[in-house]
Amino acid sequence: MNMIDSYRHKGLRKQLVEEIKRKGIRDENVLAAIEKIPRHYFMNSSFIEFAYEDQAFPIDAGQTISQPYTVAFQTELLQVRKGDKVLEIGTGSGYQTTILMELGAKVYTIERQKVLYDKVKSFLPSIGYKPKFFYGDGYLGLHAFAPFDRILVTAGAPYIPEALTSQLKIGGILVIPVGDSMGQEMTTVYKKTETEFEIKQWGGFRFVPLVGDSER
Ligand code: SAM
Repeated sequence: MNMIDSYRHKGLRKQLVEEIKRKGIRDENVLAAIEKIPRHYFMNSSFIEFAYEDQAFPIDAGQTISQPYTVAFQTELLQVRKGDKVLEIGTGSGYQTTILMELGAKVYTIERQKVLYDKVKSFLPSIGYKPKFFYGDGYLGLHAFAPFDRILVTAGAPYIPEALTSQLKIGGILVIPVGDSMGQEMTTVYKKTETEFEIKQWGGFRFVPLVGDSER
């Protein structure tokens, strides 16, 4: 793993931030977090040269590190406030986790691929980020630690799991890409009361699928 963050890397990150700004990301805190985190630390060696391209890349276990624009877009929709308790479903490379932590969130992150869970659980603390890591099925949320201010799903879900909306606080926001393997609609669910939700859609994306335990 290349753990040197050079001036060249920093320069490339500035350019990346300009690019995602041009694509419409406005939240200054999100942009600052993208500018700060060395994305190349999270990439497999064969793709490290491309770390500051605005693209998704393969990581272990057939999964992907999301495109920076997508990470920024989902994070912007999540409207994280300092101190928020955030549940992240799909730890993946851990990159998005660190962006959430830069915004001051207390992060609980779940991953169902053991190899990714093991890798990120030892890597993130080594660079100073200590979220709570869980190995398991994110469809179920994290009942024991609910409720959450915010829930972020970073894989494509065929539907909005009821476990997740029930684990949101009133006034909380769930961000989830909903659709099939052909593509998903970025969706926000705002919990107005225990039984009332405001659902909005924000355009098409393509994620690796959210896979339940029964499909393992
Ligand atoms: N945000 C991540 C990053 O920055 O690297 C990218 C996440 S990747 C697009 C989606 C992740 O969701 C994969 O690592 C995949 O294994 C995980 N995943 C899929 N189904 C899951 C489930 N039911 N529970 C938890 N994680 C799941």
